[in-house]
Formats: sequence, structure tokens, C-alpha cells
Amino acid sequence: MKKFLALLLFLCLSLTACASDGPAETEIFAMDTYMRLRIWGDRELLSDTVDEIRRLEGLFSVTDEKSEIFLLNRDGQAVLSADTAEILTRAIALSERTGGAFDPTVYPLVSAWGFTSGEPHIPTQDELNVLLPSVDAAHLRLDGSNAALTDGAQLDLGGIAKGYTAQKCLELLSEKGVQAAMLSLGGNVQTLGSKPDGKPWVIGIANPEEPTEAIATLTFNGSMAIVTSGGYQRYFDLDGARYHHILDPQTGMPAETGLASVTVLTQDGTTADALSTALFVMGMEKSVELWRESDDFEAIFITQDRKIFATKGAADLLGGCEFEEITR
Ligand code: ADP
Ligand code: MG
Repeated sequence: MKKFLALLLFLCLSLTACASDGPAETEIFAMDTYMRLRIWGDRELLSDTVDEIRRLEGLFSVTDEKSEIFLLNRDGQAVLSADTAEILTRAIALSERTGGAFDPTVYPLVSAWGFTSGEPHIPTQDELNVLLPSVDAAHLRLDGSNAALTDGAQLDLGGIAKGYTAQKCLELLSEKGVQAAMLSLGGNVQTLGSKPDGKPWVIGIANPEEPTEAIATLTFNGSMAIVTSGGYQRYFDLDGARYHHILDPQTGMPAETGLASVTVLTQDGTTADALSTALFVMGMEKSVELWRESDDFEAIFITQDRKIFATKGAADLLGGCEFEEITR
């Protein structure tokens, strides 16, 4: 009995020791998704981070009637706070960089498909034809903190807001002296620094067919944003067909390029988020062209026929699966 008590005491002590070495962590629901925050540091930093996420959600939400994006969509013009002006500046630049595959003015289409209301339906070609001319990042005008929307354009930052938020939260934590943190905001994972135990970060890449399981892992040290966009993340089935939430701004239809998911690895969370959405729309061939002329991101493509392709820099970190390497 004594031995048992001693063992129990030992176990309790070692668990406490582990807990104090480990990160402070919490889970929240925000920006319409589950988020997991892990910070190696003071527990108070968790609530600071949650506050920052809620603050940015309050600016960028398309449904919150007090958000700056809601007011800009409603009134066609608005004076923006620094964060909203910055995310829109980045969104316009990333839209240009991806030839419009990432488009922050996609809201009329998202709305027509009912993805925001939670009552999805298939719009007719006539409906889409009416909406398509309003979908163009060129209809968003920014002049410092003044924004205007023309030609019936409406914003939806669903493809970039989580990446921007992760980036800002980690910058804030870094300013406060935090050496290691990992934020997982839906499909967006971003790390800061390296864990104090010296072990590398190991991030699972979801199996598109069984999203709660990992199909592969990325192992690395240091700061990185890893963002996955996949047709499996939000969709509805009707009459035997599947319709997902990543729309091709050219056609108004869910993008079908033979990809099940795209994962982007880069240093900047905002870039990672917008690019993962864009590459999914562009398909692998055009994405690889963009990769060859860029030096700031790597990518992993999972095709609908279950093949995995990884650009050189991603291939070096990828394990647990068979894949084909894409070279420059
Ligand atoms: P998730 O938000 O599910 O992690 P994404 O980052 O790929 O996935 O963003 C998809 C969301 O972005 C959609 O739900 C919609 O709000 C918006 N969106 C859809 N298509 C596009 C597009 N072509 N460009 C920009 N945003 C898009
Ligand atoms: Mg995205």
C-alpha cells in the first residue's frame, strides 16, 4: 500500500513538473472555427491572445453588424482602423500576385451559395452572371484609412483573416518576450521560435478523406506559418455532387482543379492564408509556375486521386507518406 502511495505521489509530482515545463494552453471558438493556442510562458498571455483574436474578429467579421467590414459592405465606404486598412492592403496585393485567384470581393458569390447563412443552395447560371461583374479586387479602393467599394462589390475576408490574426498575435507575443508559441486557428497553424525542450515542431497535414487524421507530418525548428485550404473543410452534398466553399472568382463555381488540398509554408501568416486559397483555385500547374518565380513560400499538393506532391523546401520537412518532389 505504501509503495502504491509513493508511486502515486511520484506520478503526481512528475505530472506537475511536466505541466509547469509545458505550454499554457486553451481552446476557443472564434472566426467560425475551433482554435487551439499554446504559449510557453505566463498563462495571462493566453487571455491577451484571446482578446486580440476577438478584437480582430470584431473588425473583420462579415456578419457582425458592428464590424468595419460589415459597415463597409453596407455603406460602400468607411474610415478604417489600422488593422482593417492593413489587411485590405495585403488582400489587394495578394489578389494581384495570384492573378485574381485570391479575391477579397468574393462575398456576393459566397452569399449566393449560402455558405454564410448556413443554408446552402446552388445558384443558377443567371444568378451567377449577374453577380460575377461585381467580383473584382479592383472594385476595392483604398486611400490611407478611407475605403470605398464600387460596382456592387462586397468583401469577405474568410480566406485571409485567420492568417492575418495568427501573424498579429505572434508578433504581439514576441514583443512581450515569448520565445515559443503555436497557434492553430482552424486549418492555419503558425509557430513562433522553438520549444524549450529542444524538440522540433511536428505538424500533421490532414488527410482530405479523413480530416481528423494526419496523412503526413512536417518536422522543423523555428517560426513558420503552415496553412491548408481544402475542399473538405466546408461543403454540402446535393443530388450526389459535392460543392465546397473555395470559389473560382472567374466562374463563381467551387474551384475544381483536381486538388483535394493545398498546404502553404511561409514566414508570414497573411501570405500563407491567402496563397493557400489562391493555389487551390489555380490548380497545381499554375501554382508551381508561381512557386518557380517566387522565393517566399513552399507548398504541398494533395490531388483528388490521392497523390502527394511537395516543392523542394517542403519536401525536405515532409515525412510519413510517399510523395513526389517538385524541383525548380
Ligand atoms: P478556411 O477558411 O476554411 O480555412 P480558406 O482560407 O481557403 O479556408 O478560405 C475559404 C474562405 O474564403 C471561404 O469560406 C470564403 O469565405 C472565402 N473565399 C472563397 N473563395 C475565395 C477566393 N477565391 N478568394 C478569396 N476568398 C475566398
Ligand atoms: Mg486561406
